[in-house]
Amino acid sequence: MDKFDLSHYSVKQLVELDACTRCGECVKWCPTYAEKGEEPLQPADKIRRMRSFIGAQYGLRARLFGPRFPTEVAVEEYSGGVYDCTLCGRCKVVCPVKIDTRPLWIAMREHLVDLGHYPGAFDTLREMVTTRHNISGDDNEDRLIWSENLERVPEGVTGKEQAEIVYFVGCTPAFYPQTYGIPQATVGVMERAGLDFTTLGSEEWCCGYPLIIAGMGDAVEELVEHNVAAVRRTGAGKLVAGCPSCYHTWLHEYPRIIGEPLGFEVQHLSELLEELIGEGSITLGEFERPVTYHDPCDLGRNSGIYDAPRNVIQSIPGISFTEMEENRRDALCCGGGGDVAMCDQELVEAVASRRLGQAQATGAQVLLSACQQCKRTLMTAARQEKVRMRVLDIVELVAMVMEE
Ligand code: SF4
Ligand code: SF4
Repeated sequence: MDKFDLSHYSVKQLVELDACTRCGECVKWCPTYAEKGEEPLQPADKIRRMRSFIGAQYGLRARLFGPRFPTEVAVEEYSGGVYDCTLCGRCKVVCPVKIDTRPLWIAMREHLVDLGHYPGAFDTLREMVTTRHNISGDDNEDRLIWSENLERVPEGVTGKEQAEIVYFVGCTPAFYPQTYGIPQATVGVMERAGLDFTTLGSEEWCCGYPLIIAGMGDAVEELVEHNVAAVRRTGAGKLVAGCPSCYHTWLHEYPRIIGEPLGFEVQHLSELLEELIGEGSITLGEFERPVTYHDPCDLGRNSGIYDAPRNVIQSIPGISFTEMEENRRDALCCGGGGDVAMCDQELVEAVASRRLGQAQATGAQVLLSACQQCKRTLMTAARQEKVRMRVLDIVELVAMVMEE
Protein backbone atom coordinates (compact mmCIF):
# COMPACT_ATOMS: atom_id res chain seq x y z
CA MET A 1 0.00 0.00 0.00
CA ASP A 2 1.18 3.48 -0.88
CA LYS A 3 1.24 6.46 1.40
CA PHE A 4 -1.98 7.14 3.26
CA ASP A 5 -3.53 10.09 1.39
CA LEU A 6 -5.46 12.30 3.79
CA SER A 7 -6.83 14.69 1.16
CA HIS A 8 -10.30 13.14 1.50
CA TYR A 9 -10.64 14.71 4.94
CA SER A 10 -11.20 18.37 5.67
CA VAL A 11 -9.11 20.02 8.34
CA LYS A 12 -12.22 19.99 10.54
CA GLN A 13 -12.55 16.23 10.08
CA LEU A 14 -8.90 15.62 10.96
CA VAL A 15 -9.46 17.65 14.11
CA GLU A 16 -12.64 15.65 14.81
CA LEU A 17 -10.70 12.39 14.57
CA ASP A 18 -8.51 13.72 17.33
CA ALA A 19 -11.39 15.17 19.34
CA CYS A 20 -13.12 11.84 20.03
CA THR A 21 -12.94 11.21 23.77
CA ARG A 22 -13.93 7.51 23.42
CA CYS A 23 -16.85 8.11 25.75
CA GLY A 24 -18.73 5.33 23.95
CA GLU A 25 -22.06 7.18 23.82
CA CYS A 26 -22.34 6.62 20.04
CA VAL A 27 -21.73 2.91 20.51
CA LYS A 28 -24.87 2.58 22.65
CA TRP A 29 -26.97 4.20 19.92
CA CYS A 30 -25.58 2.55 16.79
CA PRO A 31 -28.27 0.30 15.24
CA THR A 32 -25.92 -1.83 13.16
CA TYR A 33 -23.50 -2.49 16.01
CA ALA A 34 -26.52 -3.39 18.19
CA GLU A 35 -27.41 -6.15 15.74
CA LYS A 36 -24.01 -7.52 14.79
CA GLY A 37 -22.00 -6.80 17.92
CA GLU A 38 -18.75 -6.63 15.94
CA GLU A 39 -16.20 -4.07 17.11
CA PRO A 40 -15.33 -2.58 13.67
CA LEU A 41 -18.96 -1.41 13.36
CA GLN A 42 -18.75 0.79 16.42
CA PRO A 43 -18.62 4.46 15.43
CA ALA A 44 -15.90 5.11 17.99
CA ASP A 45 -13.87 2.17 16.70
CA LYS A 46 -13.86 3.53 13.15
CA ILE A 47 -12.38 6.74 14.51
CA ARG A 48 -9.89 4.87 16.68
CA ARG A 49 -8.66 2.76 13.78
CA MET A 50 -8.30 5.72 11.40
CA ARG A 51 -6.46 7.64 14.11
CA SER A 52 -4.04 4.77 14.60
CA PHE A 53 -3.48 4.40 10.82
CA ILE A 54 -2.64 8.11 10.64
CA GLY A 55 -0.48 7.99 13.77
CA ALA A 56 1.57 5.07 12.41
CA GLN A 57 2.29 7.06 9.30
CA TYR A 58 2.59 10.64 10.48
CA GLY A 59 3.00 10.49 14.29
CA LEU A 60 6.12 10.91 16.40
CA ARG A 61 7.11 7.21 16.22
CA ALA A 62 6.77 7.38 12.45
CA ARG A 63 9.16 10.33 12.37
CA LEU A 64 11.64 8.57 14.65
CA PHE A 65 11.50 5.05 13.28
CA GLY A 66 9.85 5.44 9.88
CA PRO A 67 6.21 5.16 8.82
CA ARG A 68 4.28 1.92 9.13
CA PHE A 69 1.50 1.23 6.66
CA PRO A 70 -1.60 -0.62 7.79
CA THR A 71 -1.78 -4.22 6.62
CA GLU A 72 -4.28 -5.27 3.97
CA VAL A 73 -6.09 -7.29 6.65
CA ALA A 74 -6.37 -4.28 8.95
CA VAL A 75 -7.77 -2.08 6.19
CA GLU A 76 -10.19 -4.78 5.10
CA GLU A 77 -11.53 -5.16 8.64
CA TYR A 78 -11.88 -1.39 8.97
CA SER A 79 -13.66 -1.22 5.59
CA GLY A 80 -16.20 -3.82 6.78
CA GLY A 81 -17.17 -1.50 9.64
CA VAL A 82 -17.29 1.63 7.49
CA TYR A 83 -19.63 0.02 4.95
CA ASP A 84 -21.84 -1.79 7.50
CA CYS A 85 -23.24 1.60 8.48
CA THR A 86 -26.65 2.93 7.45
CA LEU A 87 -25.44 6.55 7.72
CA CYS A 88 -28.43 7.07 9.99
CA GLY A 89 -26.66 9.83 11.95
CA ARG A 90 -27.69 8.64 15.42
CA CYS A 91 -24.03 8.70 16.45
CA LYS A 92 -23.86 12.39 15.57
CA VAL A 93 -26.80 13.54 17.65
CA VAL A 94 -25.54 11.88 20.83
CA CYS A 95 -21.86 12.79 20.49
CA PRO A 96 -20.99 15.16 23.37
CA VAL A 97 -18.15 16.78 21.39
CA LYS A 98 -20.41 17.25 18.36
CA ILE A 99 -18.42 15.23 15.85
CA ASP A 100 -20.25 15.50 12.52
CA THR A 101 -20.06 11.78 11.94
CA ARG A 102 -22.09 11.24 8.77
CA PRO A 103 -19.83 13.30 6.44
CA LEU A 104 -16.87 11.73 8.22
CA TRP A 105 -18.10 8.20 7.39
CA ILE A 106 -18.59 9.28 3.76
CA ALA A 107 -15.05 10.71 3.64
CA MET A 108 -13.79 7.37 5.00
CA ARG A 109 -15.65 5.59 2.19
CA GLU A 110 -14.08 7.91 -0.41
CA HIS A 111 -10.70 7.09 1.04
CA LEU A 112 -11.43 3.35 0.95
CA VAL A 113 -12.53 3.57 -2.69
CA ASP A 114 -9.15 5.15 -3.46
CA LEU A 115 -7.43 2.35 -1.56
CA GLY A 116 -9.45 -0.26 -3.47
CA HIS A 117 -11.03 -1.68 -0.28
CA TYR A 118 -14.79 -1.47 -0.84
CA PRO A 119 -17.57 -3.97 -1.58
CA GLY A 120 -17.43 -5.17 -5.18
CA ALA A 121 -21.16 -4.55 -5.66
CA PHE A 122 -20.43 -0.84 -5.78
CA ASP A 123 -18.59 -1.22 -9.11
CA THR A 124 -21.85 -2.55 -10.59
CA LEU A 125 -23.77 0.31 -8.99
CA ARG A 126 -21.39 2.88 -10.48
CA GLU A 127 -21.69 1.21 -13.89
CA MET A 128 -25.53 1.20 -13.71
CA VAL A 129 -25.88 4.76 -12.53
CA THR A 130 -23.35 6.33 -14.90
CA THR A 131 -24.36 4.41 -18.03
CA ARG A 132 -28.06 3.53 -17.51
CA HIS A 133 -28.78 6.57 -15.31
CA ASN A 134 -30.67 4.63 -12.67
CA ILE A 135 -29.85 2.24 -9.82
CA SER A 136 -31.61 -0.82 -11.22
CA GLY A 137 -29.95 -0.96 -14.63
CA ASP A 138 -33.33 -0.78 -16.38
CA ASP A 139 -33.82 1.11 -19.61
CA ASN A 140 -34.23 4.71 -18.45
CA GLU A 141 -36.89 5.20 -21.12
CA ASP A 142 -39.14 3.13 -18.78
CA ARG A 143 -39.00 5.71 -15.96
CA LEU A 144 -42.74 6.26 -16.12
CA ILE A 145 -43.69 2.59 -16.02
CA TRP A 146 -45.33 3.18 -12.60
CA SER A 147 -47.97 5.36 -14.30
CA GLU A 148 -49.14 2.74 -16.77
CA ASN A 149 -51.94 1.30 -14.68
CA LEU A 150 -53.32 4.63 -13.48
CA GLU A 151 -56.98 5.02 -14.36
CA ARG A 152 -56.23 8.51 -15.59
CA VAL A 153 -52.75 9.75 -16.30
CA PRO A 154 -52.46 13.46 -15.39
CA GLU A 155 -51.00 15.63 -18.11
CA GLY A 156 -47.93 16.48 -16.04
CA VAL A 157 -46.82 12.84 -15.77
CA THR A 158 -45.76 12.40 -19.36
CA GLY A 159 -44.01 15.73 -19.32
CA LYS A 160 -44.86 19.30 -20.13
CA GLU A 161 -42.22 21.57 -21.63
CA GLN A 162 -42.96 24.29 -19.08
CA ALA A 163 -44.42 23.95 -15.57
CA GLU A 164 -44.32 25.64 -12.19
CA ILE A 165 -43.27 22.49 -10.32
CA VAL A 166 -41.02 19.59 -11.27
CA TYR A 167 -41.87 16.37 -9.43
CA PHE A 168 -38.58 14.45 -9.12
CA VAL A 169 -39.73 10.84 -8.75
CA GLY A 170 -36.48 9.06 -7.78
CA CYS A 171 -35.14 5.68 -8.94
CA THR A 172 -36.78 3.41 -6.36
CA PRO A 173 -40.43 4.44 -6.92
CA ALA A 174 -39.78 4.51 -10.67
CA PHE A 175 -38.43 0.99 -10.99
CA TYR A 176 -39.44 -1.07 -7.92
CA PRO A 177 -43.11 -2.15 -8.05
CA GLN A 178 -43.44 -2.30 -4.24
CA THR A 179 -43.23 1.50 -4.24
CA TYR A 180 -45.13 2.44 -7.44
CA GLY A 181 -48.00 3.51 -5.17
CA ILE A 182 -46.00 6.55 -4.00
CA PRO A 183 -45.68 8.38 -7.35
CA GLN A 184 -49.16 7.21 -8.31
CA ALA A 185 -50.59 8.85 -5.19
CA THR A 186 -48.38 11.93 -5.56
CA VAL A 187 -49.50 12.82 -9.08
CA GLY A 188 -53.12 12.19 -8.07
CA VAL A 189 -52.83 14.63 -5.17
CA MET A 190 -51.00 17.21 -7.27
CA GLU A 191 -53.59 17.05 -10.00
CA ARG A 192 -56.54 17.33 -7.63
CA ALA A 193 -54.89 20.28 -5.89
CA GLY A 194 -54.73 21.98 -9.29
CA LEU A 195 -50.94 22.26 -9.40
CA ASP A 196 -49.09 22.99 -12.61
CA PHE A 197 -46.49 20.21 -12.46
CA THR A 198 -44.41 17.98 -14.68
CA THR A 199 -42.05 15.06 -14.30
CA LEU A 200 -38.82 14.87 -16.27
CA GLY A 201 -39.80 11.47 -17.72
CA SER A 202 -36.75 9.65 -19.09
CA GLU A 203 -34.78 12.89 -18.74
CA GLU A 204 -34.75 12.26 -15.00
CA TRP A 205 -31.44 10.63 -14.14
CA CYS A 206 -30.46 9.17 -10.77
CA CYS A 207 -29.75 12.09 -8.43
CA GLY A 208 -26.35 10.56 -7.65
CA TYR A 209 -26.98 10.00 -3.94
CA PRO A 210 -26.20 6.25 -3.93
CA LEU A 211 -22.77 6.95 -5.46
CA ILE A 212 -22.05 9.92 -3.22
CA ILE A 213 -22.64 7.86 -0.09
CA ALA A 214 -20.73 4.88 -1.52
CA GLY A 215 -17.64 7.13 -1.59
CA MET A 216 -17.86 7.55 -5.37
CA GLY A 217 -18.97 11.16 -5.44
CA ASP A 218 -16.41 11.92 -8.16
CA ALA A 219 -18.64 10.01 -10.62
CA VAL A 220 -21.78 12.13 -10.26
CA GLU A 221 -20.91 15.44 -11.89
CA GLU A 222 -22.45 14.57 -15.27
CA LEU A 223 -25.68 13.35 -13.61
CA VAL A 224 -25.97 16.49 -11.55
CA GLU A 225 -25.38 18.83 -14.48
CA HIS A 226 -27.87 16.89 -16.61
CA ASN A 227 -30.61 17.01 -13.97
CA VAL A 228 -30.13 20.69 -13.18
CA ALA A 229 -30.27 21.59 -16.90
CA ALA A 230 -33.42 19.47 -17.36
CA VAL A 231 -35.22 21.24 -14.49
CA ARG A 232 -34.08 24.68 -15.63
CA ARG A 233 -35.48 24.03 -19.14
CA THR A 234 -38.97 23.68 -17.65
CA GLY A 235 -38.77 27.14 -16.07
CA ALA A 236 -40.02 25.63 -12.79
CA GLY A 237 -39.69 27.66 -9.60
CA LYS A 238 -39.82 24.59 -7.41
CA LEU A 239 -38.61 20.99 -7.38
CA VAL A 240 -40.52 18.54 -5.18
CA ALA A 241 -38.92 15.25 -4.17
CA GLY A 242 -40.78 12.44 -2.41
CA CYS A 243 -37.50 10.70 -1.62
CA PRO A 244 -35.69 12.22 1.40
CA SER A 245 -32.31 11.24 -0.04
CA CYS A 246 -33.01 12.91 -3.42
CA TYR A 247 -34.30 15.92 -1.46
CA HIS A 248 -31.17 16.12 0.70
CA THR A 249 -28.90 15.70 -2.32
CA TRP A 250 -30.66 18.36 -4.40
CA LEU A 251 -30.70 20.81 -1.51
CA HIS A 252 -27.23 20.32 -0.08
CA GLU A 253 -25.00 18.58 -2.64
CA TYR A 254 -26.13 20.01 -5.97
CA PRO A 255 -25.30 23.70 -5.32
CA ARG A 256 -21.88 22.60 -4.02
CA ILE A 257 -21.22 20.43 -7.07
CA ILE A 258 -22.34 22.97 -9.70
CA GLY A 259 -20.72 25.82 -7.78
CA GLU A 260 -23.77 28.12 -7.86
CA PRO A 261 -27.32 28.33 -6.49
CA LEU A 262 -29.89 26.17 -8.27
CA GLY A 263 -32.21 29.09 -9.00
CA PHE A 264 -35.32 27.24 -7.82
CA GLU A 265 -36.72 26.04 -4.49
CA VAL A 266 -36.30 22.43 -3.34
CA GLN A 267 -39.08 20.99 -1.22
CA HIS A 268 -39.83 17.61 0.28
CA LEU A 269 -43.23 16.18 -0.57
CA SER A 270 -44.27 16.19 3.10
CA GLU A 271 -43.77 19.98 3.17
CA LEU A 272 -45.86 20.39 0.01
CA LEU A 273 -48.65 18.26 1.50
CA GLU A 274 -48.58 20.31 4.70
CA GLU A 275 -48.85 23.47 2.60
CA LEU A 276 -51.73 22.15 0.44
CA ILE A 277 -53.71 21.07 3.51
CA GLY A 278 -52.99 24.33 5.35
CA GLU A 279 -54.19 26.54 2.51
CA GLY A 280 -57.25 24.37 1.88
CA SER A 281 -56.23 23.19 -1.59
CA ILE A 282 -57.10 19.65 -0.52
CA THR A 283 -59.46 18.48 2.19
CA LEU A 284 -59.20 15.20 3.95
CA GLY A 285 -61.88 12.78 5.05
CA GLU A 286 -61.86 10.52 8.11
CA PHE A 287 -59.45 7.70 8.84
CA GLU A 288 -60.03 5.87 12.07
CA ARG A 289 -57.36 3.17 12.25
CA PRO A 290 -54.47 3.66 14.72
CA VAL A 291 -51.24 4.77 13.06
CA THR A 292 -47.65 5.49 13.96
CA TYR A 293 -44.91 7.29 12.06
CA HIS A 294 -41.34 6.29 11.25
CA ASP A 295 -38.90 9.22 10.71
CA PRO A 296 -36.70 8.55 7.66
CA CYS A 297 -33.09 9.34 8.64
CA ASP A 298 -32.47 11.57 5.61
CA LEU A 299 -35.65 13.53 6.29
CA GLY A 300 -35.53 13.79 10.08
CA ARG A 301 -32.05 13.70 11.58
CA ASN A 302 -30.20 14.57 8.38
CA SER A 303 -32.55 17.32 7.07
CA GLY A 304 -34.35 18.48 10.21
CA ILE A 305 -37.89 17.81 8.92
CA TYR A 306 -39.90 16.30 11.77
CA ASP A 307 -43.06 18.41 11.95
CA ALA A 308 -44.35 18.51 8.36
CA PRO A 309 -45.20 14.78 8.12
CA ARG A 310 -46.72 14.80 11.63
CA ASN A 311 -48.84 17.84 10.81
CA VAL A 312 -50.10 16.07 7.69
CA ILE A 313 -51.03 12.97 9.68
CA GLN A 314 -52.71 14.91 12.46
CA SER A 315 -54.79 16.92 10.03
CA ILE A 316 -56.71 13.76 9.08
CA PRO A 317 -60.03 13.77 10.97
CA GLY A 318 -60.50 10.89 13.40
CA ILE A 319 -56.94 9.59 13.14
CA SER A 320 -55.37 8.04 16.21
CA PHE A 321 -51.64 8.74 16.12
CA THR A 322 -49.15 7.32 18.61
CA GLU A 323 -45.42 8.00 18.54
CA MET A 324 -42.98 5.13 18.73
CA GLU A 325 -40.77 5.03 21.80
CA GLU A 326 -37.79 6.24 19.75
CA ASN A 327 -38.92 9.11 17.56
CA ARG A 328 -37.77 12.34 15.94
CA ARG A 329 -34.08 12.92 16.72
CA ASP A 330 -33.82 9.56 18.46
CA ALA A 331 -35.68 7.52 15.83
CA LEU A 332 -34.23 4.13 15.05
CA CYS A 333 -33.20 3.65 11.43
CA CYS A 334 -35.26 1.26 9.26
CA GLY A 335 -32.01 -0.42 8.20
CA GLY A 336 -32.41 0.49 4.54
CA GLY A 337 -29.96 3.39 4.36
CA GLY A 338 -26.26 3.80 3.60
CA ASP A 339 -26.28 1.35 0.67
CA VAL A 340 -26.01 -1.45 3.28
CA ALA A 341 -28.54 -3.54 1.36
CA MET A 342 -25.94 -3.92 -1.37
CA CYS A 343 -23.54 -5.78 0.86
CA ASP A 344 -25.34 -7.03 3.97
CA GLN A 345 -29.04 -7.79 3.49
CA GLU A 346 -29.20 -9.77 6.75
CA LEU A 347 -28.12 -6.70 8.68
CA VAL A 348 -30.82 -4.60 6.98
CA GLU A 349 -33.43 -7.18 7.96
CA ALA A 350 -32.27 -7.30 11.57
CA VAL A 351 -32.49 -3.50 11.99
CA ALA A 352 -35.86 -3.39 10.18
CA SER A 353 -37.23 -6.11 12.42
CA ARG A 354 -36.31 -4.13 15.52
CA ARG A 355 -37.99 -1.01 14.15
CA LEU A 356 -41.07 -2.97 13.19
CA GLY A 357 -41.24 -4.25 16.77
CA GLN A 358 -41.24 -0.65 18.03
CA ALA A 359 -44.11 0.15 15.65
CA GLN A 360 -46.09 -2.89 16.86
CA ALA A 361 -45.64 -1.80 20.47
CA THR A 362 -47.73 1.32 19.75
CA GLY A 363 -50.72 -0.82 18.77
CA ALA A 364 -50.78 0.79 15.31
CA GLN A 365 -52.41 -0.98 12.41
CA VAL A 366 -50.73 1.30 9.91
CA LEU A 367 -47.07 2.22 9.90
CA LEU A 368 -46.53 5.48 8.04
CA SER A 369 -43.35 6.95 6.68
CA ALA A 370 -42.31 9.55 4.12
CA CYS A 371 -39.69 7.64 2.15
CA GLN A 372 -39.91 4.91 -0.47
CA GLN A 373 -36.85 3.09 0.87
CA CYS A 374 -38.26 3.01 4.42
CA LYS A 375 -41.54 1.72 3.03
CA ARG A 376 -39.80 -1.00 1.05
CA THR A 377 -37.62 -2.10 3.94
CA LEU A 378 -40.36 -2.09 6.59
CA MET A 379 -42.90 -3.74 4.28
CA THR A 380 -40.46 -6.54 3.56
CA ALA A 381 -39.87 -7.00 7.29
CA ALA A 382 -43.63 -7.12 7.99
CA ARG A 383 -44.13 -9.71 5.26
CA GLN A 384 -41.21 -11.87 6.39
CA GLU A 385 -42.39 -11.81 9.99
CA LYS A 386 -46.06 -12.24 9.07
CA VAL A 387 -46.95 -9.06 10.96
CA ARG A 388 -50.41 -7.77 10.08
CA MET A 389 -49.47 -4.14 9.73
CA ARG A 390 -49.93 -2.02 6.65
CA VAL A 391 -46.93 0.10 5.65
CA LEU A 392 -47.75 3.28 3.73
CA ASP A 393 -46.15 6.53 2.71
CA ILE A 394 -48.05 9.54 4.04
CA VAL A 395 -48.87 10.63 0.50
CA GLU A 396 -50.63 7.29 -0.08
CA LEU A 397 -52.76 7.85 3.01
CA VAL A 398 -53.54 11.43 1.93
CA ALA A 399 -54.59 10.19 -1.53
CA MET A 400 -56.81 7.53 0.10
CA VAL A 401 -58.71 9.95 2.33
CA MET A 402 -58.75 13.01 0.08
CA GLU A 403 -62.25 14.29 -0.60
CA GLU A 404 -63.49 15.19 -4.06
S1 SF4 B 1 -19.87 9.85 21.12
FE1 SF4 B 1 -18.38 11.18 20.05
S2 SF4 B 1 -16.72 11.46 21.52
FE2 SF4 B 1 -17.94 9.74 22.28
S3 SF4 B 1 -16.90 7.91 21.43
FE3 SF4 B 1 -18.51 8.49 19.97
S4 SF4 B 1 -17.52 9.81 18.47
FE4 SF4 B 1 -16.17 9.68 20.25
S1 SF4 C 1 -24.43 6.52 11.20
FE1 SF4 C 1 -25.81 5.10 12.31
S2 SF4 C 1 -25.16 3.04 11.64
FE2 SF4 C 1 -23.51 4.47 11.08
S3 SF4 C 1 -22.09 4.41 12.81
FE3 SF4 C 1 -23.51 6.11 13.21
S4 SF4 C 1 -25.15 5.22 14.47
FE4 SF4 C 1 -24.02 3.50 13.51
